[in-house]
Amino acid sequence: MTTTPPLRYLATAAVSCLLLAGLSAPAAQARPARSTAKAASSHPSWIGPGKLSQAWNCSLTTGRGTTGLAPWPAAVRGRIGAQFQTRTIGGFRPGNGRSDHHSGHALDVMVTGRDGDRIADWVRANARQLNVKYVIWQQGYWQPGMSGYRPMADRGSVTANHWDHVHISFRTGRGSCPS
Ligand SMILES: [Zn+2]
Repeated sequence: MTTTPPLRYLATAAVSCLLLAGLSAPAAQARPARSTAKAASSHPSWIGPGKLSQAWNCSLTTGRGTTGLAPWPAAVRGRIGAQFQTRTIGGFRPGNGRSDHHSGHALDVMVTGRDGDRIADWVRANARQLNVKYVIWQQGYWQPGMSGYRPMADRGSVTANHWDHVHISFRTGRGSCPS
């Protein structure tokens, strides 16, 4: 058995996020038990250790740079990496569809279990300040103003159901750093 290369892994996550049309449709299934989530394979760092302290300040980049992300999502990516010591955060995927991944306005934070809970909870608690449009985590959809996650239909895999990554979509423009 070979380890899935991280780039492909993230691309798979991004693709799964493209399949989320029909979010407004009520989901019939309950969220599956946590035990069904597989552990993510290990990944090399995407954010170098030297950049972590700088990233804490949500410093804006001057352009898309090497991540393909819009400046504000790129800044939040750095902040999440610094605050949660999470190194595998992708987001941009080339294409012309309406996915926020195509426009550089979505992040996929590759985590499972409590690590994902902590990140998703922090993003939700600071969503308006962070200019977040919505979050998908563990087969649940959340947007600012909602009290909790709305269950989503089973899309057939751990990745497609967001048990191995937190998806964060951003509105256009920028936000500011939570203290
Ligand atoms: Zn995604």
